[in-house]
Amino acid sequence: MDLADATDAILAAGRRLGARGLISAGEGNLSVRLDDERLAITPRGRRKDELGAHDIVVVPLGGVDLNARSASGLGPSSDLAVHLAVHAGRPDAGAVAHAHLPASMAVTLAGEIPDPTALPETALFIPRLPFVRFGEMGSADLAERIVTALTDGPEPFPDAVLLERHGAVAVGQDLVAAVDRLELIEVLCRTWQDALLLGAARNSLDRD
Ligand SMILES: [Zn+2]
Repeated sequence: MDLADATDAILAAGRRLGARGLISAGEGNLSVRLDDERLAITPRGRRKDELGAHDIVVVPLGGVDLNARSASGLGPSSDLAVHLAVHAGRPDAGAVAHAHLPASMAVTLAGEIPDPTALPETALFIPRLPFVRFGEMGSADLAERIVTALTDGPEPFPDAVLLERHGAVAVGQDLVAAVDRLELIEVLCRTWQDALLLGAARNSLDRD
């Protein structure tokens, strides 16, 4: 994909995540593979729903280059290592999206791991949603565990992982597909949370 199209896709995905309340402040990051050697990625420390074309950073796929800068002078996402590892492990995917999905953080904080096969839409589009234990985002250890989960056979591989207290990472043929998966994970987790709360409320009413 050329840089202009990748930039448009990243800006649109950031606005979409923001409009749906799936990212806050500087949270989240998005990347699109340009070719076999380069990646376009969001900058660190900026709102992803208010980015301009000059804020997108182009980095090499071959190694973590934290000195890369956007045309506006911004450095790449602090989660660059995760994006590079996922693109290397899943060359079939053209895009990677990460967001701190609020309901997913609530349910995993409470020790719940929602089953994607419980709802028809997630059963279809995210039939496997591996759970990855908490790790420092951007660390090599967490990047490795995310890639291991996303390349766990048999094929088809999982296209998203649920991170403990840290949202989710999804891949897609393009960013629209990856962000669709993030939205569906949030719906699954919010539904899971609501069902647990309703079940608890009913139990308490039954006791009265
Ligand atoms: Zn994060």
